[in-house]
Amino acid sequence: MPRLPLAAALLALTPLLLGATSPRPVRPGPGDCFLGLSDPRFTEWRQATEDACRVGLARAEARLGLSAPGARIRCVVTTREARRLPHDDWRYATTTTLPDGSVETFFAAEALASGALRLPQTAVHEMTHALLRAAMGETYVAVDPWFREGLAVWAAGQGQERLDNAVARAVATNRGATPTLAMLLDGLPSVPGEAHGADDYAEDFLAFEWLEERAGETAVGAVARRVAAGVAPLAAFSEEAGLDEGEVLGAVDGHARRRVSRAIRSAHAAALRSCGRKLDRGRSADAAACFDRFVARHPGSAVSDAARMLGAVAWQRADRPNLAREALAPVAASGSPFADEARDRIAAALEREGQPEAALHAACSALRDGFTRHAPHLSFVAARALMRLDSPAAAAPWLERIVSRYAASRYADGAERLLAEARRRLTATGADVDASSAASPHDADGRPPLPEPEAPPPER
Ligand SMILES: [Zn+2]
Repeated sequence: MPRLPLAAALLALTPLLLGATSPRPVRPGPGDCFLGLSDPRFTEWRQATEDACRVGLARAEARLGLSAPGARIRCVVTTREARRLPHDDWRYATTTTLPDGSVETFFAAEALASGALRLPQTAVHEMTHALLRAAMGETYVAVDPWFREGLAVWAAGQGQERLDNAVARAVATNRGATPTLAMLLDGLPSVPGEAHGADDYAEDFLAFEWLEERAGETAVGAVARRVAAGVAPLAAFSEEAGLDEGEVLGAVDGHARRRVSRAIRSAHAAALRSCGRKLDRGRSADAAACFDRFVARHPGSAVSDAARMLGAVAWQRADRPNLAREALAPVAASGSPFADEARDRIAAALEREGQPEAALHAACSALRDGFTRHAPHLSFVAARALMRLDSPAAAAPWLERIVSRYAASRYADGAERLLAEARRRLTATGADVDASSAASPHDADGRPPLPEPEAPPPER
């Protein structure tokens, strides 16, 4: 289970602190729920990150046979807000070259707090980028993304996890249908100007896995050194593999198809197809039970969490929100790529169940201890809950935050209307305005079963 957030702990203590005369419980505002730079955990995170970067750099150097003596590489941990990242930029680590030529890797404190960021692996991944950046300077950014990301994923040993996650996201977004190869493989090289997202990383990695199987681990290091010296990625592969470039692309494609097919089979993904069909035909309770059975029968499957998410959608449609929350709880508490979405859905389910106090605390907890791209929605849940709890004064700061910081989000208009209502209620004491009259942009039926694939590309 997630750690009890500070605000919830304070709430539990409130009757003791204030005595029996307390008129109403303390209700958390945004300041209690967003991770701040004063969080005592920063000391620990900074130390752990510095250590992981040191080990990660040594590991990357050893795997690639490449070193950058005298390179200035620095790892920093801070909040996304302090970094002034827009709310829809939810990468949890990024490596950049600064104007003075030094290299900086940023780790989002929110991702460390939630466990979404696995520090040892992410540090090797980022230090691989940092090492190549230090060796190549700004010319590194012109290297084809499939090479940069595939090499980093390979060096960090994240390949299988990336592949499993890509299969799980394809299952979730296609409501249980078995993913096709075309859903998971675009082919190399990358198309210039096209976004290179988390799911592309698995395919990128498979090129390096193919090279390692064909020519050994040292061939991968040799390719990295050639590229660092200015050779084009495909030409470097061709030289190390002893094949022409067309043959390399054909062989990599064949390897990727075999590996993805195997990942789909070993996740037993085809067994979800019948559950998905029930969901599509509106047999929600049957579908939910079917997803539950899948989870029980295939405990180690790479698509278990995807099945739990779909099961929760089905329970919600069957009007059993408590069972939906039960399905979501293990996902929310894990480092799963769906944890972020699960925490958001739990808060929304509590709101729909008519439990505003619990919804408020679930939203606060998801914001404070979760790496979440759902901050606009969770803030809206908190504000609406406070309005229903007849606390317009407490709701207002949440709404002001949505209007000012998340102006581009789909919740901004609803927040503006609700803010006007909160202000009316504050000035006209005794007015009895129904908070639920504000437009809800998050109705159960207006929402796709699951959003777009969500694990962020961890860096660039
Ligand atoms: Zn990367």
